[in-house]
Amino acid sequence: MYRSHNCGELNASHINTEVTLSGWVQKSRDKGFMIWVDLRDRYGITQLIFDEERTSKDILEQAQKLGREFVIQVKGTVIERASKNPNIPTGDIEILVSELTILNEALLPPFTIEDKTDGGEDIRMKYRYLDIRRNPVKNNLIFRAKVTQEVRNFLSNNDFIEVETPYLIKSTPEGARDFVVPSRMNEGEFYALPQSPQTFKQLLMVGGMDKYFQIVKCFRDEDLRADRQPEFTQIDCEMAFVEQEDILNIFEGLTRHLLKEVNGVEVDKFPRMLYDDAMRLYGNDKPDIRFGMEFGELNAVAQHKDFGVFNNAELVVGIAVPGGNSYTRKEIDKLIDWVKRPQVGALGMVYSRCNDDGTFKSSVDKFYDQDDLAKWAEVTGAKAGDLVCILSGDTNKVRAQLSALRMELAERLGLRDPKVFAPLWVIDFPLLELDEETGHYHAMHHPFTSPKPGQIELLDTNPGDVKANAYDLVLNGNEIGGGSIRIHDKATQAIMLKHLGFSEEDAKAQFGFLMDAFEYGAPPHGGLAFGLDRLVSILGGQETIRDFIAFPKNNSGRDVMIDAPAPIDDEQLKELNLKLDLQS
Ligand code: ASP
Repeated sequence: MYRSHNCGELNASHINTEVTLSGWVQKSRDKGFMIWVDLRDRYGITQLIFDEERTSKDILEQAQKLGREFVIQVKGTVIERASKNPNIPTGDIEILVSELTILNEALLPPFTIEDKTDGGEDIRMKYRYLDIRRNPVKNNLIFRAKVTQEVRNFLSNNDFIEVETPYLIKSTPEGARDFVVPSRMNEGEFYALPQSPQTFKQLLMVGGMDKYFQIVKCFRDEDLRADRQPEFTQIDCEMAFVEQEDILNIFEGLTRHLLKEVNGVEVDKFPRMLYDDAMRLYGNDKPDIRFGMEFGELNAVAQHKDFGVFNNAELVVGIAVPGGNSYTRKEIDKLIDWVKRPQVGALGMVYSRCNDDGTFKSSVDKFYDQDDLAKWAEVTGAKAGDLVCILSGDTNKVRAQLSALRMELAERLGLRDPKVFAPLWVIDFPLLELDEETGHYHAMHHPFTSPKPGQIELLDTNPGDVKANAYDLVLNGNEIGGGSIRIHDKATQAIMLKHLGFSEEDAKAQFGFLMDAFEYGAPPHGGLAFGLDRLVSILGGQETIRDFIAFPKNNSGRDVMIDAPAPIDDEQLKELNLKLDLQS
Protein backbone atom coordinates (compact mmCIF):
# COMPACT_ATOMS: atom_id res chain seq x y z
CA MET A 1 0.00 0.00 0.00
CA TYR A 2 1.57 3.25 -1.07
CA ARG A 3 -0.46 5.37 1.32
CA SER A 4 -2.96 5.25 4.13
CA HIS A 5 -3.89 8.92 3.77
CA ASN A 6 -3.31 11.71 1.31
CA CYS A 7 -1.23 14.81 1.98
CA GLY A 8 -4.19 17.07 2.61
CA GLU A 9 -6.27 15.28 5.18
CA LEU A 10 -4.35 14.76 8.42
CA ASN A 11 -5.09 17.08 11.33
CA ALA A 12 -5.01 17.20 15.14
CA SER A 13 -7.61 14.43 15.37
CA HIS A 14 -5.04 12.02 13.88
CA ILE A 15 -2.31 12.66 16.48
CA ASN A 16 -0.53 9.43 17.44
CA THR A 17 -1.85 7.62 14.37
CA GLU A 18 0.63 5.60 12.33
CA VAL A 19 0.37 6.67 8.70
CA THR A 20 1.90 6.03 5.31
CA LEU A 21 2.09 8.90 2.84
CA SER A 22 3.41 9.20 -0.69
CA GLY A 23 4.07 12.31 -2.72
CA TRP A 24 6.57 14.83 -4.05
CA VAL A 25 9.15 16.79 -2.11
CA GLN A 26 7.97 20.38 -2.35
CA LYS A 27 10.92 21.64 -0.35
CA SER A 28 13.18 20.62 2.49
CA ARG A 29 14.85 22.63 5.22
CA ASP A 30 17.96 21.05 6.65
CA LYS A 31 19.19 22.37 9.99
CA GLY A 32 21.72 19.54 10.30
CA PHE A 33 20.23 18.00 13.42
CA MET A 34 16.69 18.37 12.09
CA ILE A 35 15.14 18.22 8.62
CA TRP A 36 11.68 19.31 7.63
CA VAL A 37 10.24 18.22 4.32
CA ASP A 38 7.02 19.47 2.76
CA LEU A 39 5.39 16.48 1.11
CA ARG A 40 2.92 17.37 -1.63
CA ASP A 41 0.23 15.59 -3.59
CA ARG A 42 -2.95 16.73 -5.34
CA TYR A 43 -4.72 17.11 -2.02
CA GLY A 44 -2.29 19.29 -0.14
CA ILE A 45 0.95 19.47 1.76
CA THR A 46 1.98 17.62 4.90
CA GLN A 47 5.10 18.47 6.84
CA LEU A 48 7.50 15.64 7.62
CA ILE A 49 10.07 15.85 10.37
CA PHE A 50 13.30 13.92 10.74
CA ASP A 51 15.49 14.65 13.78
CA GLU A 52 18.70 13.42 15.30
CA GLU A 53 17.09 12.24 18.50
CA ARG A 54 14.09 10.41 17.19
CA THR A 55 15.07 9.35 13.65
CA SER A 56 17.60 6.63 12.88
CA LYS A 57 20.90 7.82 11.45
CA ASP A 58 20.57 6.19 8.04
CA ILE A 59 17.08 7.63 7.46
CA LEU A 60 18.33 11.05 8.46
CA GLU A 61 21.18 10.68 5.97
CA GLN A 62 18.80 9.60 3.26
CA ALA A 63 16.53 12.55 4.05
CA GLN A 64 19.48 14.87 3.60
CA LYS A 65 19.75 13.74 -0.01
CA LEU A 66 16.15 14.49 -0.93
CA GLY A 67 15.90 16.96 -3.76
CA ARG A 68 12.95 18.98 -4.96
CA GLU A 69 10.30 16.87 -6.70
CA PHE A 70 11.74 13.53 -5.54
CA VAL A 71 8.90 11.02 -5.23
CA ILE A 72 8.97 9.41 -1.81
CA GLN A 73 6.99 7.22 0.51
CA VAL A 74 7.18 7.65 4.29
CA LYS A 75 5.83 5.84 7.27
CA GLY A 76 5.58 7.59 10.59
CA THR A 77 3.49 8.94 13.43
CA VAL A 78 1.29 12.00 13.37
CA ILE A 79 2.52 14.40 16.06
CA GLU A 80 1.54 17.89 17.11
CA ARG A 81 3.61 20.64 15.53
CA ALA A 82 5.62 22.96 17.70
CA SER A 83 4.94 25.99 15.49
CA LYS A 84 1.58 25.64 13.81
CA ASN A 85 0.65 26.94 10.36
CA PRO A 86 -2.94 28.21 10.40
CA ASN A 87 -2.89 28.70 6.61
CA ILE A 88 -3.09 25.04 5.61
CA PRO A 89 -5.51 22.32 6.77
CA THR A 90 -2.64 20.09 7.93
CA GLY A 91 -0.92 22.97 9.73
CA ASP A 92 -1.41 21.62 13.27
CA ILE A 93 0.49 18.40 12.74
CA GLU A 94 3.61 16.88 11.24
CA ILE A 95 4.79 13.34 10.61
CA LEU A 96 7.68 11.99 12.64
CA VAL A 97 9.19 9.73 10.00
CA SER A 98 10.31 6.21 10.85
CA GLU A 99 10.69 4.80 7.32
CA LEU A 100 11.62 6.54 4.09
CA THR A 101 11.58 5.06 0.60
CA ILE A 102 12.71 7.03 -2.42
CA LEU A 103 10.29 5.90 -5.13
CA ASN A 104 11.91 8.01 -7.81
CA GLU A 105 14.54 10.69 -7.97
CA ALA A 106 13.93 13.88 -9.93
CA LEU A 107 16.03 16.28 -11.90
CA LEU A 108 15.90 19.84 -10.71
CA PRO A 109 12.72 21.22 -12.34
CA PRO A 110 13.34 24.00 -14.89
CA PHE A 111 11.03 26.33 -12.97
CA THR A 112 9.76 26.52 -9.43
CA ILE A 113 6.69 24.45 -8.63
CA GLU A 114 5.07 27.30 -6.73
CA ASP A 115 1.86 29.27 -7.14
CA LYS A 116 3.91 32.18 -8.40
CA THR A 117 6.52 30.45 -10.51
CA ASP A 118 9.62 31.89 -12.11
CA GLY A 119 8.86 29.98 -15.33
CA GLY A 120 7.63 31.84 -18.42
CA GLU A 121 4.78 30.51 -20.57
CA ASP A 122 7.03 28.74 -23.11
CA ILE A 123 9.01 26.73 -20.61
CA ARG A 124 5.90 25.87 -18.62
CA MET A 125 4.22 24.56 -21.78
CA LYS A 126 7.25 22.47 -22.68
CA TYR A 127 7.13 20.88 -19.24
CA ARG A 128 3.38 21.08 -18.84
CA TYR A 129 3.34 17.99 -16.59
CA LEU A 130 5.37 19.99 -14.09
CA ASP A 131 3.18 23.03 -14.56
CA ILE A 132 0.14 20.88 -13.73
CA ARG A 133 1.70 20.17 -10.33
CA ARG A 134 1.29 23.87 -9.49
CA ASN A 135 -1.85 24.83 -7.62
CA PRO A 136 -3.22 27.39 -10.10
CA VAL A 137 -3.15 24.95 -13.03
CA LYS A 138 -4.20 21.96 -10.94
CA ASN A 139 -7.12 23.90 -9.48
CA ASN A 140 -8.23 25.05 -12.93
CA LEU A 141 -8.36 21.43 -14.12
CA ILE A 142 -10.30 20.41 -11.03
CA PHE A 143 -12.63 23.35 -11.63
CA ARG A 144 -13.16 22.27 -15.23
CA ALA A 145 -14.02 18.74 -14.09
CA LYS A 146 -16.57 20.17 -11.67
CA VAL A 147 -18.18 22.21 -14.45
CA THR A 148 -18.40 19.24 -16.82
CA GLN A 149 -19.77 17.07 -14.03
CA GLU A 150 -22.51 19.62 -13.36
CA VAL A 151 -23.27 19.84 -17.08
CA ARG A 152 -23.73 16.07 -17.17
CA ASN A 153 -25.86 16.15 -14.02
CA PHE A 154 -28.17 18.82 -15.33
CA LEU A 155 -28.57 17.44 -18.83
CA SER A 156 -28.97 13.84 -17.67
CA ASN A 157 -31.62 14.97 -15.18
CA ASN A 158 -33.42 16.59 -18.08
CA ASP A 159 -33.47 13.40 -20.18
CA PHE A 160 -30.59 14.21 -22.50
CA ILE A 161 -28.69 11.19 -23.77
CA GLU A 162 -24.93 11.40 -24.25
CA VAL A 163 -24.06 10.02 -27.67
CA GLU A 164 -20.64 9.92 -29.31
CA THR A 165 -20.29 10.89 -32.95
CA PRO A 166 -17.34 10.11 -35.22
CA TYR A 167 -14.21 12.18 -35.64
CA LEU A 168 -13.22 10.83 -39.04
CA ILE A 169 -15.88 12.42 -41.21
CA LYS A 170 -16.46 14.70 -44.12
CA SER A 171 -16.47 18.49 -44.08
CA THR A 172 -18.98 20.18 -41.75
CA PRO A 173 -19.16 23.82 -42.63
CA GLU A 174 -18.86 25.98 -39.52
CA GLY A 175 -16.98 28.63 -41.41
CA ALA A 176 -13.42 27.47 -40.83
CA ARG A 177 -10.97 25.30 -42.76
CA ASP A 178 -11.01 21.58 -42.10
CA PHE A 179 -8.18 19.56 -40.67
CA VAL A 180 -7.85 16.58 -42.98
CA VAL A 181 -6.64 13.04 -42.41
CA PRO A 182 -5.47 10.91 -45.33
CA SER A 183 -7.10 7.51 -45.64
CA ARG A 184 -4.63 4.65 -46.19
CA MET A 185 -7.31 2.23 -47.25
CA ASN A 186 -8.99 4.63 -49.64
CA GLU A 187 -6.19 5.87 -51.79
CA GLY A 188 -6.21 9.58 -52.53
CA GLU A 189 -9.12 10.20 -50.20
CA PHE A 190 -9.27 12.17 -47.01
CA TYR A 191 -11.41 12.41 -43.93
CA ALA A 192 -12.10 15.80 -42.41
CA LEU A 193 -12.12 16.21 -38.66
CA PRO A 194 -15.41 17.67 -37.47
CA GLN A 195 -15.63 21.42 -37.00
CA SER A 196 -18.61 20.36 -34.89
CA PRO A 197 -20.90 17.31 -34.81
CA GLN A 198 -23.62 19.44 -36.42
CA THR A 199 -24.95 17.10 -39.09
CA PHE A 200 -24.66 14.03 -36.87
CA LYS A 201 -26.68 15.53 -34.08
CA GLN A 202 -29.36 16.45 -36.59
CA LEU A 203 -29.33 12.87 -37.83
CA LEU A 204 -29.71 11.70 -34.23
CA MET A 205 -32.91 13.72 -34.13
CA VAL A 206 -34.08 12.03 -37.32
CA GLY A 207 -33.11 8.82 -35.52
CA GLY A 208 -35.53 9.64 -32.71
CA MET A 209 -33.02 10.27 -29.89
CA ASP A 210 -35.07 13.33 -28.97
CA LYS A 211 -32.54 14.99 -26.65
CA TYR A 212 -28.83 14.60 -27.28
CA PHE A 213 -25.70 16.01 -25.76
CA GLN A 214 -22.01 15.36 -26.04
CA ILE A 215 -18.95 16.93 -24.49
CA VAL A 216 -16.88 16.75 -27.61
CA LYS A 217 -13.70 17.90 -29.30
CA CYS A 218 -14.10 20.05 -32.41
CA PHE A 219 -11.36 20.93 -34.85
CA ARG A 220 -11.04 24.14 -36.84
CA ASP A 221 -8.04 25.10 -38.87
CA GLU A 222 -8.29 28.83 -38.36
CA ASP A 223 -5.67 31.50 -38.17
CA LEU A 224 -5.19 31.53 -34.48
CA ARG A 225 -6.43 34.79 -33.13
CA ALA A 226 -5.61 35.45 -29.52
CA ASP A 227 -6.87 32.74 -27.23
CA ARG A 228 -8.21 30.33 -29.83
CA GLN A 229 -7.30 26.68 -29.96
CA PRO A 230 -7.33 24.55 -33.12
CA GLU A 231 -8.98 21.81 -31.09
CA PHE A 232 -11.46 22.83 -28.48
CA THR A 233 -14.36 21.34 -26.58
CA GLN A 234 -18.05 21.94 -27.02
CA ILE A 235 -21.04 20.98 -24.95
CA ASP A 236 -23.02 20.05 -28.01
CA CYS A 237 -26.79 19.69 -27.70
CA GLU A 238 -29.80 19.03 -29.89
CA MET A 239 -33.52 18.59 -29.20
CA ALA A 240 -36.47 17.47 -31.31
CA PHE A 241 -39.97 18.93 -31.35
CA VAL A 242 -38.82 22.26 -30.00
CA GLU A 243 -39.17 25.90 -30.81
CA GLN A 244 -36.59 28.56 -30.04
CA GLU A 245 -38.33 29.34 -26.76
CA ASP A 246 -37.93 25.76 -25.50
CA ILE A 247 -34.23 25.83 -26.24
CA LEU A 248 -33.61 29.19 -24.63
CA ASN A 249 -35.38 28.03 -21.49
CA ILE A 250 -33.58 24.75 -21.06
CA PHE A 251 -30.09 26.14 -21.68
CA GLU A 252 -30.74 29.20 -19.61
CA GLY A 253 -31.56 26.61 -16.94
CA LEU A 254 -28.24 24.85 -17.53
CA THR A 255 -26.30 28.10 -17.30
CA ARG A 256 -28.13 29.13 -14.16
CA HIS A 257 -27.47 25.69 -12.68
CA LEU A 258 -23.74 26.07 -13.37
CA LEU A 259 -23.57 29.58 -11.93
CA LYS A 260 -25.30 28.35 -8.80
CA GLU A 261 -23.49 25.04 -8.28
CA VAL A 262 -20.07 26.18 -9.38
CA ASN A 263 -19.99 29.83 -8.42
CA GLY A 264 -22.73 30.06 -5.80
CA VAL A 265 -24.32 32.89 -7.79
CA GLU A 266 -28.07 33.24 -8.43
CA VAL A 267 -28.93 35.14 -11.60
CA ASP A 268 -32.31 36.58 -12.61
CA LYS A 269 -33.99 35.65 -15.85
CA PHE A 270 -31.57 36.33 -18.69
CA PRO A 271 -32.40 39.43 -20.71
CA ARG A 272 -32.96 38.93 -24.42
CA MET A 273 -31.66 41.38 -26.93
CA LEU A 274 -32.30 41.52 -30.65
CA TYR A 275 -29.16 41.23 -32.72
CA ASP A 276 -29.99 44.57 -34.36
CA ASP A 277 -30.25 46.25 -30.95
CA ALA A 278 -27.01 44.71 -29.75
CA MET A 279 -25.25 46.13 -32.78
CA ARG A 280 -26.91 49.53 -32.40
CA LEU A 281 -26.37 49.88 -28.66
CA TYR A 282 -23.04 48.12 -28.19
CA GLY A 283 -21.61 47.79 -31.71
CA ASN A 284 -21.17 44.14 -30.99
CA ASP A 285 -23.16 40.91 -31.09
CA LYS A 286 -21.75 39.83 -27.74
CA PRO A 287 -22.24 42.87 -25.56
CA ASP A 288 -20.79 43.05 -22.09
CA ILE A 289 -23.73 44.33 -20.08
CA ARG A 290 -21.99 44.39 -16.71
CA PHE A 291 -21.79 48.13 -17.31
CA GLY A 292 -23.70 50.74 -19.33
CA MET A 293 -21.90 53.09 -21.71
CA GLU A 294 -24.46 52.38 -24.40
CA PHE A 295 -23.94 53.93 -27.80
CA GLY A 296 -25.84 57.09 -28.71
CA GLU A 297 -26.33 57.62 -32.44
CA LEU A 298 -25.73 61.27 -33.22
CA ASN A 299 -26.44 61.66 -36.93
CA ALA A 300 -29.57 63.74 -36.28
CA VAL A 301 -27.81 66.14 -33.93
CA ALA A 302 -24.30 66.24 -35.39
CA GLN A 303 -24.76 66.33 -39.15
CA HIS A 304 -25.75 69.22 -41.40
CA LYS A 305 -23.43 71.68 -39.67
CA ASP A 306 -20.16 72.67 -41.29
CA PHE A 307 -18.16 69.71 -40.01
CA GLY A 308 -17.44 67.69 -43.13
CA VAL A 309 -16.10 64.63 -41.30
CA PHE A 310 -19.49 64.04 -39.67
CA ASN A 311 -21.52 65.12 -42.68
CA ASN A 312 -19.82 62.57 -44.89
CA ALA A 313 -20.11 59.72 -42.41
CA GLU A 314 -22.71 56.99 -42.62
CA LEU A 315 -22.82 56.87 -38.82
CA VAL A 316 -21.81 59.32 -36.10
CA VAL A 317 -21.92 57.56 -32.76
CA GLY A 318 -20.69 58.24 -29.26
CA ILE A 319 -20.42 56.95 -25.72
CA ALA A 320 -20.28 58.70 -22.39
CA VAL A 321 -17.26 57.82 -20.30
CA PRO A 322 -18.21 58.09 -16.62
CA GLY A 323 -15.95 60.60 -14.87
CA GLY A 324 -14.03 61.09 -18.12
CA ASN A 325 -13.94 64.86 -17.84
CA SER A 326 -11.12 64.41 -15.35
CA TYR A 327 -8.83 63.18 -18.15
CA THR A 328 -6.07 65.61 -18.98
CA ARG A 329 -5.54 66.80 -22.53
CA LYS A 330 -2.59 64.45 -22.70
CA GLU A 331 -4.66 61.49 -21.57
CA ILE A 332 -7.29 62.24 -24.17
CA ASP A 333 -4.61 62.52 -26.85
CA LYS A 334 -3.42 59.09 -25.80
CA LEU A 335 -6.94 57.77 -26.13
CA ILE A 336 -7.11 59.22 -29.62
CA ASP A 337 -3.84 57.46 -30.46
CA TRP A 338 -5.34 54.28 -29.05
CA VAL A 339 -8.35 54.36 -31.40
CA LYS A 340 -6.05 55.15 -34.31
CA ARG A 341 -3.93 52.03 -33.76
CA PRO A 342 -4.25 49.68 -36.75
CA GLN A 343 -5.95 47.06 -34.55
CA VAL A 344 -8.82 49.51 -33.97
CA GLY A 345 -8.51 51.54 -37.13
CA ALA A 346 -10.42 54.77 -36.42
CA LEU A 347 -9.27 57.85 -38.30
CA GLY A 348 -9.73 60.09 -35.29
CA MET A 349 -11.97 60.82 -32.34
CA VAL A 350 -14.05 63.84 -31.46
CA TYR A 351 -14.75 64.51 -27.80
CA SER A 352 -16.85 66.77 -25.67
CA ARG A 353 -16.17 67.45 -22.01
CA CYS A 354 -19.20 67.74 -19.74
CA ASN A 355 -18.17 70.29 -17.15
CA ASP A 356 -19.54 70.33 -13.63
CA ASP A 357 -21.18 73.74 -14.20
CA GLY A 358 -23.29 72.33 -17.04
CA THR A 359 -21.18 73.79 -19.85
CA PHE A 360 -19.40 71.76 -22.52
CA LYS A 361 -16.02 71.99 -24.16
CA SER A 362 -15.50 70.00 -27.31
CA SER A 363 -12.69 69.37 -29.74
CA VAL A 364 -14.92 70.78 -32.48
CA ASP A 365 -16.17 73.98 -30.79
CA LYS A 366 -15.70 75.77 -34.11
CA PHE A 367 -18.68 73.91 -35.57
CA TYR A 368 -20.95 73.21 -32.62
CA ASP A 369 -22.45 75.47 -29.98
CA GLN A 370 -23.44 74.66 -26.41
CA ASP A 371 -26.96 73.60 -27.44
CA ASP A 372 -25.55 71.10 -29.91
CA LEU A 373 -23.19 69.71 -27.32
CA ALA A 374 -26.02 69.47 -24.77
CA LYS A 375 -27.87 67.28 -27.26
CA TRP A 376 -24.83 65.04 -27.67
CA ALA A 377 -24.74 64.62 -23.91
CA GLU A 378 -28.44 63.84 -23.85
CA VAL A 379 -28.25 61.24 -26.61
CA THR A 380 -25.24 59.46 -25.09
CA GLY A 381 -26.59 59.75 -21.54
CA ALA A 382 -23.60 61.81 -20.40
CA LYS A 383 -23.76 63.59 -17.06
CA ALA A 384 -21.69 66.44 -15.65
CA GLY A 385 -18.18 65.12 -15.13
CA ASP A 386 -18.33 62.69 -18.07
CA LEU A 387 -16.55 62.72 -21.39
CA VAL A 388 -18.39 62.06 -24.64
CA CYS A 389 -16.22 60.20 -27.17
CA ILE A 390 -17.43 60.16 -30.75
CA LEU A 391 -16.37 58.19 -33.79
CA SER A 392 -17.74 58.41 -37.30
CA GLY A 393 -17.54 56.53 -40.57
CA ASP A 394 -19.03 53.44 -42.20
CA THR A 395 -21.61 51.91 -39.91
CA ASN A 396 -20.10 48.45 -39.47
CA LYS A 397 -16.57 49.68 -39.07
CA VAL A 398 -17.37 52.52 -36.72
CA ARG A 399 -19.48 50.30 -34.51
CA ALA A 400 -16.64 47.83 -34.17
CA GLN A 401 -14.22 50.64 -33.37
CA LEU A 402 -16.41 52.23 -30.74
CA SER A 403 -17.12 48.82 -29.26
CA ALA A 404 -13.37 48.28 -28.87
CA LEU A 405 -13.05 51.68 -27.20
CA ARG A 406 -15.98 50.94 -24.89
CA MET A 407 -14.41 47.69 -23.73
CA GLU A 408 -10.99 49.27 -23.28
CA LEU A 409 -12.36 52.13 -21.21
CA ALA A 410 -14.48 49.78 -19.12
CA GLU A 411 -11.38 47.72 -18.43
CA ARG A 412 -9.46 50.83 -17.39
CA LEU A 413 -12.37 51.97 -15.22
CA GLY A 414 -12.54 48.57 -13.51
CA LEU A 415 -16.08 47.93 -14.73
CA ARG A 416 -15.36 44.39 -15.91
CA ASP A 417 -15.46 42.63 -12.57
CA PRO A 418 -14.87 38.89 -13.14
CA LYS A 419 -16.96 38.07 -10.08
CA VAL A 420 -20.05 39.70 -11.59
CA PHE A 421 -21.95 37.57 -14.11
CA ALA A 422 -24.20 39.22 -16.67
CA PRO A 423 -25.59 36.66 -19.12
CA LEU A 424 -27.98 37.49 -21.95
CA TRP A 425 -29.44 35.97 -25.07
CA VAL A 426 -28.85 37.70 -28.35
CA ILE A 427 -31.59 36.56 -30.72
CA ASP A 428 -32.83 37.05 -34.28
CA PHE A 429 -29.47 36.95 -35.99
CA PRO A 430 -29.43 37.57 -39.73
CA LEU A 431 -29.51 34.34 -41.71
CA LEU A 432 -26.80 35.46 -44.10
CA GLU A 433 -23.78 37.67 -43.94
CA LEU A 434 -22.21 39.50 -46.83
CA ASP A 435 -18.55 38.78 -47.35
CA GLU A 436 -17.31 42.25 -48.27
CA GLU A 437 -14.29 40.88 -50.11
CA THR A 438 -16.02 38.38 -52.40
CA GLY A 439 -19.44 40.04 -52.50
CA HIS A 440 -21.02 36.65 -51.70
CA TYR A 441 -23.38 35.82 -48.91
CA HIS A 442 -22.51 33.07 -46.49
CA ALA A 443 -24.43 31.55 -43.62
CA MET A 444 -23.98 33.64 -40.52
CA HIS A 445 -24.45 30.61 -38.26
CA HIS A 446 -24.31 27.59 -40.55
CA PRO A 447 -26.18 26.37 -43.64
CA PHE A 448 -28.64 24.27 -41.61
CA THR A 449 -30.14 27.21 -39.77
CA SER A 450 -33.73 27.94 -40.65
CA PRO A 451 -34.95 31.36 -41.73
CA LYS A 452 -37.71 32.93 -39.64
CA PRO A 453 -41.09 31.62 -40.73
CA GLY A 454 -42.41 33.46 -43.75
CA GLN A 455 -39.08 35.05 -44.67
CA ILE A 456 -37.82 32.51 -47.15
CA GLU A 457 -39.19 34.48 -50.13
CA LEU A 458 -37.07 37.45 -49.06
CA LEU A 459 -33.99 35.39 -49.92
CA ASP A 460 -34.47 36.27 -53.58
CA THR A 461 -34.94 39.98 -53.13
CA ASN A 462 -33.23 41.10 -49.92
CA PRO A 463 -31.07 38.25 -48.70
CA GLY A 464 -29.30 40.45 -46.14
CA ASP A 465 -32.59 41.23 -44.40
CA VAL A 466 -33.65 37.65 -43.73
CA LYS A 467 -33.55 36.85 -40.04
CA ALA A 468 -32.89 33.42 -38.62
CA ASN A 469 -34.13 31.50 -35.64
CA ALA A 470 -30.59 31.73 -34.35
CA TYR A 471 -29.40 32.77 -30.92
CA ASP A 472 -26.21 33.24 -28.95
CA LEU A 473 -25.72 33.02 -25.24
CA VAL A 474 -23.43 35.81 -24.13
CA LEU A 475 -21.66 36.04 -20.79
CA ASN A 476 -19.58 39.06 -19.79
CA GLY A 477 -18.81 40.08 -23.34
CA ASN A 478 -18.06 36.58 -24.59
CA GLU A 479 -20.12 34.33 -26.78
CA ILE A 480 -20.33 31.18 -24.70
CA GLY A 481 -22.88 29.38 -26.81
CA GLY A 482 -24.81 29.59 -30.02
CA GLY A 483 -27.32 27.64 -31.98
CA SER A 484 -30.42 27.68 -34.08
CA ILE A 485 -33.64 26.03 -35.07
CA ARG A 486 -32.76 23.91 -38.07
CA ILE A 487 -34.21 23.42 -41.46
CA HIS A 488 -35.85 19.97 -41.43
CA ASP A 489 -37.15 19.58 -44.96
CA LYS A 490 -35.26 18.86 -48.12
CA ALA A 491 -36.79 21.59 -50.24
CA THR A 492 -35.89 24.43 -47.85
CA GLN A 493 -32.42 23.02 -47.32
CA ALA A 494 -31.94 22.94 -51.09
CA ILE A 495 -33.03 26.57 -51.42
CA MET A 496 -30.68 27.59 -48.65
CA LEU A 497 -27.71 25.79 -50.21
CA LYS A 498 -28.50 27.33 -53.57
CA HIS A 499 -28.38 30.80 -52.03
CA LEU A 500 -25.06 29.95 -50.45
CA GLY A 501 -23.68 29.30 -53.91
CA PHE A 502 -23.72 25.48 -53.94
CA SER A 503 -24.54 23.94 -57.28
CA GLU A 504 -27.09 21.12 -57.16
CA GLU A 505 -24.31 18.56 -57.61
CA ASP A 506 -22.12 20.07 -54.90
CA ALA A 507 -25.04 20.22 -52.50
CA LYS A 508 -25.81 16.58 -53.19
CA ALA A 509 -22.18 15.50 -52.90
CA GLN A 510 -21.63 17.31 -49.61
CA PHE A 511 -24.98 17.15 -47.88
CA GLY A 512 -26.96 14.53 -49.81
CA PHE A 513 -26.95 12.24 -46.76
CA LEU A 514 -28.66 14.91 -44.64
CA MET A 515 -31.16 15.94 -47.28
CA ASP A 516 -32.01 12.30 -47.94
CA ALA A 517 -32.58 11.80 -44.21
CA PHE A 518 -35.01 14.70 -44.23
CA GLU A 519 -37.17 12.62 -46.57
CA TYR A 520 -37.62 9.87 -44.01
CA GLY A 521 -39.59 11.73 -41.39
CA ALA A 522 -37.35 14.39 -39.84
CA PRO A 523 -38.87 16.00 -36.76
CA PRO A 524 -38.62 19.75 -36.25
CA HIS A 525 -35.46 20.22 -34.24
CA GLY A 526 -32.90 22.69 -33.00
CA GLY A 527 -30.03 23.00 -30.61
CA LEU A 528 -26.93 24.81 -29.63
CA ALA A 529 -23.37 24.31 -28.54
CA PHE A 530 -21.47 25.91 -25.69
CA GLY A 531 -17.76 26.51 -25.97
CA LEU A 532 -16.70 24.63 -22.86
CA ASP A 533 -13.17 26.03 -22.63
CA ARG A 534 -14.36 29.61 -22.64
CA LEU A 535 -17.33 28.91 -20.38
CA VAL A 536 -15.04 27.33 -17.81
CA SER A 537 -12.54 30.15 -17.96
CA ILE A 538 -15.22 32.81 -17.47
CA LEU A 539 -16.85 30.93 -14.61
CA GLY A 540 -13.34 30.57 -13.21
CA GLY A 541 -12.98 34.35 -13.33
CA GLN A 542 -10.27 34.35 -15.99
CA GLU A 543 -10.26 34.99 -19.69
CA THR A 544 -7.49 32.74 -20.99
CA ILE A 545 -8.83 29.38 -22.12
CA ARG A 546 -5.35 27.89 -22.27
CA ASP A 547 -5.18 28.01 -18.49
CA PHE A 548 -8.08 25.58 -18.30
CA ILE A 549 -6.83 23.06 -20.87
CA ALA A 550 -4.50 20.34 -19.66
CA PHE A 551 -2.34 20.26 -22.79
CA PRO A 552 -3.07 23.34 -24.91
CA LYS A 553 -1.48 24.41 -28.17
CA ASN A 554 0.45 27.65 -28.47
CA ASN A 555 -0.42 30.59 -30.70
CA SER A 556 1.09 28.87 -33.73
CA GLY A 557 -1.03 25.78 -33.15
CA ARG A 558 1.94 23.81 -31.83
CA ASP A 559 2.16 21.48 -28.91
CA VAL A 560 5.65 22.38 -27.75
CA MET A 561 5.77 19.53 -25.25
CA ILE A 562 5.39 16.68 -27.73
CA ASP A 563 6.62 18.86 -30.60
CA ALA A 564 3.65 18.51 -32.90
CA PRO A 565 2.88 18.91 -35.71
CA ALA A 566 5.91 17.08 -37.06
CA PRO A 567 7.01 15.59 -40.38
CA ILE A 568 6.16 11.94 -40.94
CA ASP A 569 8.66 9.49 -42.31
CA ASP A 570 8.83 8.33 -45.91
CA GLU A 571 7.49 4.90 -45.04
CA GLN A 572 4.31 6.40 -43.63
CA LEU A 573 3.91 8.66 -46.65
CA LYS A 574 4.34 5.66 -48.92
CA GLU A 575 1.69 3.70 -47.07
CA LEU A 576 -0.65 6.60 -47.56
CA ASN A 577 0.29 6.87 -51.22
CA LEU A 578 1.25 10.47 -50.68
CA LYS A 579 4.20 12.41 -52.03
CA LEU A 580 5.17 15.77 -50.56
CA ASP A 581 5.65 18.63 -52.97
CA LEU A 582 5.94 21.61 -50.66
CA GLN A 583 5.35 24.89 -52.45
CA SER A 584 7.65 26.97 -50.30
N1 ASP B 1 -22.72 23.54 -34.57
C1 ASP B 1 -22.88 24.88 -34.06
C2 ASP B 1 -21.53 25.48 -33.72
O1 ASP B 1 -20.55 24.78 -33.58
C3 ASP B 1 -23.74 24.95 -32.86
C4 ASP B 1 -25.18 24.64 -33.17
O2 ASP B 1 -25.74 25.22 -34.09
O3 ASP B 1 -25.74 23.84 -32.44
O4 ASP B 1 -21.44 26.67 -33.52
